Amino acid sequence: MSKSKKSDPPPKPACDTCGVIGQKAFAFEKNGWPEETTHLPAAANNLKTIRVIKDSGSRKFLVQQCPGCGDYFTYELDYEFLAGGSEDEESLIRLTKSEAREILKKRKHRS
Ligand SMILES: [Zn+2]
Repeated sequence: MSKSKKSDPPPKPACDTCGVIGQKAFAFEKNGWPEETTHLPAAANNLKTIRVIKDSGSRKFLVQQCPGCGDYFTYELDYEFLAGGSEDEESLIRLTKSEAREILKKRKHRS
């Protein structure tokens, strides 16, 4: 009798914090149309903003990092004010290490 231990370690365990986000997440909000509104996973709130690439009120482009596993994401918000109701689009996209490095290299104006 031989006891065989069978365990298949997953290549990379899903992160407790950002695992539910997956590779990307989108949300779309249309004012006055709650049934068409979607939200980002709550986990998106746990990401830390480490760089503001653009923030003009109605448009935002941020680099965020997961405090759990250190993965980087870009968060984008696009807000459109329309006569029939505003629209609001959010996206959250996981970056590869090299993509993150490229984005973080960019700087705002130097004075
Ligand atoms: Zn994570």
